[in-house]
Amino acid sequence: MTVKSLARGLLKRSLRGAVATIGPLASVDDGPRILCYHGVSSEPPDEWSVTPAQLTEQMAIVCGEGSPVSLTHLVAWLLDGTALPERAIAVTFDDGYQDVYRYAAPILAKLKVPATAFVITGLCDGLPRDASYVPSRPTLTWDEVLALHRDGWTIGSHTLSHPILSQQSAADSARELSDSRRRLSEVLGHEVTLLAYPYGTRRTVSPRDHRLAEQAGYQAAFLDAVGSVSRRSPRFALPRCKVLGTDSQKVFRASLCGQLDLWRRIEDR
Ligand SMILES: [Zn+2]
Repeated sequence: MTVKSLARGLLKRSLRGAVATIGPLASVDDGPRILCYHGVSSEPPDEWSVTPAQLTEQMAIVCGEGSPVSLTHLVAWLLDGTALPERAIAVTFDDGYQDVYRYAAPILAKLKVPATAFVITGLCDGLPRDASYVPSRPTLTWDEVLALHRDGWTIGSHTLSHPILSQQSAADSARELSDSRRRLSEVLGHEVTLLAYPYGTRRTVSPRDHRLAEQAGYQAAFLDAVGSVSRRSPRFALPRCKVLGTDSQKVFRASLCGQLDLWRRIEDR
């Protein structure tokens, strides 16, 4: 990490805290939300990871102030109008880090919070990762993916090799999306229908990739773009709110009700 990126991270963190203290920059929005986590580690290697203690506190807030639902439940509400509780919140983890199995799974099981892991299938198969992606620690084995699945986790695809899809040819992007879905469906023994795009920003995923995801047989796909989900949200570009290890409890609470949405949009530019 360079001094410049460290300073930038510190500045963002202080501004996030200040915005959460001052109050809403946008009206409070109680629509359904999807949280996007990455790793869970007692010694987080980067701001993309939270500690087990942070996750425990945050899940207690989710249970106390919202209604935890599975991502499949939330997607069923989108697709066919299945009833959804007030302030529904779905919890997801990207990249399939082993520490999600080790630390997050027991915490969520204890609090009965359903969750989804988006897995990079090529890494489970020992295939090379995309050059743009450097995992910060070990990723799940197939046995661990199956153990999560048996424990009630939803498993979705995070592609084969975690490339920047918008920089791939259409054929390569289609292969990343369909081969990973096929492989997961084969291992789990049922159709896999959910996808989280790698990186998930509007710069790294293009509308072409949204179409390719639909053609590959997914029912819904998720970005890393803040906001609540509505029945009008595009099914192949659904928002998720990232949770960072540098988020204080106050910032986490403010994110849950949309108080930080406008700020996060500015921050992500
Ligand atoms: Zn990822």
